[in-house]
Amino acid sequence: MRAIQVIRHGGPEVLEYTTADDPIPAPGEVLVRTAAIGVNFIDTYFRRGQYPSVPPYVPGVEGAGEIVAVGADVADLTVGQRVCWVDAGASYAELVTVTAARAIPIPDGVPDDVAGSAMLRGLTAHYLLDGSAHPGAGDTVLIHAGAGGVGLIATQLAKLRGIRVITTVSSDEKAALSSAAGADHVLRYGDGLVEQVRSLTDGRGVPVVYDGVGADTFEQSLAATAVRGIIVLFGAASGPVPPFDLQRLNPAGSLSVTRPTLAHFIADPAELRWRAGEYLGAVAAGNVDVRVGQRYRLADAAQAHTDLEGRVTTGTTVLIPG
Ligand code: NDP
Repeated sequence: MRAIQVIRHGGPEVLEYTTADDPIPAPGEVLVRTAAIGVNFIDTYFRRGQYPSVPPYVPGVEGAGEIVAVGADVADLTVGQRVCWVDAGASYAELVTVTAARAIPIPDGVPDDVAGSAMLRGLTAHYLLDGSAHPGAGDTVLIHAGAGGVGLIATQLAKLRGIRVITTVSSDEKAALSSAAGADHVLRYGDGLVEQVRSLTDGRGVPVVYDGVGADTFEQSLAATAVRGIIVLFGAASGPVPPFDLQRLNPAGSLSVTRPTLAHFIADPAELRWRAGEYLGAVAAGNVDVRVGQRYRLADAAQAHTDLEGRVTTGTTVLIPG
């Protein structure tokens, strides 16, 4: 099969389009011919060596495709079925083995490129709203990078729950996308952001900030959070937040900060199925519109990484084999 390999840690140029042995499904696994592979920020953290990984390896944590073989001890999945997966390795390839208990059947009406590029972001948006924090109807939240992959889905899921949403974006095009996803107020980063958030909340600030940008936004997130509020620091698109003195949370308003990761919210197969069922169900019903913003051939994975890190992508990013 053809696959992308990270040949050493570094920039997008270390992604090499190579030939690899076809994987064989072990007992309890299925073999999937990929139709769509998601490109995520976490792939760039591993590629750079910011998260632990040992090159050479095949990157990628999610995708979708058709089952072409079933290992021993797999009872409930069959050849020909469409499935997607998330939080599994070696996805930038034409063939991928997936643990059967973690292969999610794709509902009718959900295209492969949506399922393959939006499980990580979709399930993240789901646990952000119902796991790491619990905003309710009528609450106001601030979501940074509102036109990004997680941002667009989180905005729509929040609106379905009756939550008021303020987002940040960096351009007019992204502002239009964030508004179309339902954001009530779309703001720009930088000077004046905190004041605008406070003026939209009667001076109080928001009870929940979702910050996947990290280094560039964290100080503003702190200043925009209401007394007893929580900052959900879920990513580092602009780089990691520097070491932080916890004592600062006290005068800032008895704040909480959490640094969650999706793996801990879907480790239990039952919780994975619950979150995937709610999220994919909302997509299939047309209540969440997943915007596949960029499509690349699998061979062009390096360009996909360049664009994701270059801040020019919107919505989700997908690699198509062949
Ligand atoms: P996005 O599609 O949201 O892309 C990141 C966005 O961040 C950019 O489009 C850009 O939007 C904004 N951004 C701000 N500053 C920078 C910068 N210096 N460099 C690059 N981008 C910047 O990505 P994803 O939806 O894939 O992921 C969003 C975040 O969520 C990432 O930090 C990712 O690591 C994290 N994540 C965390 C998970 C978890 O469980 N903890 C799971 C999944 C994702 P703009 O130009 O509008 O500012």
